[in-house]
Amino acid sequence: MESKSKLLIIVALMLFGLTVATTINVALNFKSYSIKSAIDKANATASIVKDALTAHMLNGTMDKRGYFLNQITKAENINKIWIARSEHVIKQYGAGFPSESIRDSIDKEVLSTGKSIEKIAESLEYGILRITIPYKASTEDSSINCMQCHDVQAGDTLGIISMEFDIRDVRYDGIFTIAKIFGINILFLILALLLINHFVTPYTKMFSDMQTGIKKAYRGDFTHKFYTSMAGDAQAIVQQLNTLFSKIQDTFGDIRYSLSTFIPGGDGDCSSDPLLEANIIINELSDIYKFKKTIELDDSKDMVYTRFIDILKLKYNIQHMAFYEVYSTKQTRELIYISQGQSICLSQTDKDASRCRAYRTSNDVISTEFHDLCRSCESGELDYVCLPFTINSDVSIVLSITAKTDKEMNHIKSSIVSIENYLEAAKPVLESKILMEKLRDTSLRDGMTGLYNRRFLENVIDKIMSQAERSKDNYHVLMLDIDFFKMVNDSYGHDIGDKVIVALSKVLKGSIRESDLAIRYGGEEFLIMLHNATDEAALKIAQKINSDFAALTFNVGSNESMQKTLSIGIAKFPVDGDTIWKCIKYADTALYIAKDTGRNKIVEFKPEMFTSEEF
Ligand code: GH3
Ligand code: MG
Ligand code: MG
Repeated sequence: MESKSKLLIIVALMLFGLTVATTINVALNFKSYSIKSAIDKANATASIVKDALTAHMLNGTMDKRGYFLNQITKAENINKIWIARSEHVIKQYGAGFPSESIRDSIDKEVLSTGKSIEKIAESLEYGILRITIPYKASTEDSSINCMQCHDVQAGDTLGIISMEFDIRDVRYDGIFTIAKIFGINILFLILALLLINHFVTPYTKMFSDMQTGIKKAYRGDFTHKFYTSMAGDAQAIVQQLNTLFSKIQDTFGDIRYSLSTFIPGGDGDCSSDPLLEANIIINELSDIYKFKKTIELDDSKDMVYTRFIDILKLKYNIQHMAFYEVYSTKQTRELIYISQGQSICLSQTDKDASRCRAYRTSNDVISTEFHDLCRSCESGELDYVCLPFTINSDVSIVLSITAKTDKEMNHIKSSIVSIENYLEAAKPVLESKILMEKLRDTSLRDGMTGLYNRRFLENVIDKIMSQAERSKDNYHVLMLDIDFFKMVNDSYGHDIGDKVIVALSKVLKGSIRESDLAIRYGGEEFLIMLHNATDEAALKIAQKINSDFAALTFNVGSNESMQKTLSIGIAKFPVDGDTIWKCIKYADTALYIAKDTGRNKIVEFKPEMFTSEEF
């Protein structure tokens, strides 16, 4: 219920209660006052009658008392009046007039008790006050001594006087007076309510307006304009509220606008609650800032990818996804992470980046937008979202997320902008990590052959060792050296020498697996580490390298050509030595023996070949 109505009802009830209480009080007082007046009048009349009867008696005109009684009935507006004698008086003076006999039980009772009785008989039509008063013999109240004429003792009842008064007029007067009081009170009540209504309405209107404005503010809408018809303090409060709300609205609008510039897409889909929106954007910014700060300190690009995938899982609750790195120059892509072990892309697409629609078009691919959108996808019933993201001119990312239900799909779609914000934040960090890795790679590779250099070996050897110890890996260490290479330089120049070195490096690259390592160890010395190969396989690889290289023909100008051979020494880790360095040394020892025993051969290390106590 409106507070104004409540107030009016309360005031009306209070005033009405007061009116009723006043009316009842006045009515009760009026009645008792009227009866008291009638009794007083009766007592006065009784006294007059008594005095008159005494006078009649003393004057000897007792027989004329009837006339007096008639007259007094008219004069005092008394309905009826009669007197009756007591036994004492009857005994002394006889029964008197017939009208002076005892008329009812009240007369009798008063005669016998000597006490007055007042009674009211009322109905709708009539109202009568009956009062009967005793006359008692006394000597005190006047100069007249009753005992002079009556043969009684002081205090004996001489007779009674009974009177009946019509109290209808009194009653009508009472009702009229009460009605008047009641009417006046009701009039005041209505007046009070009208006045209250008049003065309270502007306040209740103002409060109701404030309530509306504050409700809107709860929803983040501070556009409400407060109004009041009142002047003074109320007007001042309303103006202050309007200024405050307009400042808040402007401030939040500005904050939202400013924040949205930090987050691309953050100014889209504006809700009507700038406060809530600013809060969401600040939280998003804070999360992204923390993410960025964290990945800046991460060691590698792969670590950044792992952290991004963690965010997809934990923050966005994405469970089914594949994460690819795409290389523009080679048009290939590599799977970095997959959650379900199976890509939704066709197997060819896994390697051939140009078949990936998201990468090719640089546009988000959302399966619900068009039937069979990506022709390289075999997701079946699953819906998917593929997001491409370019890191630099050579490296891009493709994130492929699948959804099993419409709800999941909607959630993914609504998260796209936010996910891309994370990628945007990671972009400079990834760019610098990729650059650093490239630089590191350059410093660890030999410029001429593209093979790893000796520095690389020094850098990774500890990692390889600890990994090998954990996984009980073995390595075959092959040390290679071109036979009589100096002669090439001397006879055909360094350029031809370089070509021979590059040609050998290609043979090496083509002979080993991805898990193996090929290192340019020195000028024309190469080191190969075969990971978890058997002795036979290692020997076979060595033989293949040896024969492939020997089969190469080098044009040395003037229609002349040349062929070269190489020698290989092999040692096995951890069989021959408990460290890689030892095995390198042993492989070198075996190589030396190969050289020493004729070159163009492969020699496997035997413990007896090594006599030095260096290790
Ligand atoms: P051996 O069969 O005993 O190995 O005889 P060799 O002539 O090959 O002797 P050695 O292995 O000591 O020869 C190393 C030569 O390789 C010395 C150096 O001039 C040459 N060399 C080293 N690095 C390069 C290079 O980058 N380019 C060219 N063209 N020559 C190089
Ligand atoms: Mg050499
Ligand atoms: Mg040599």
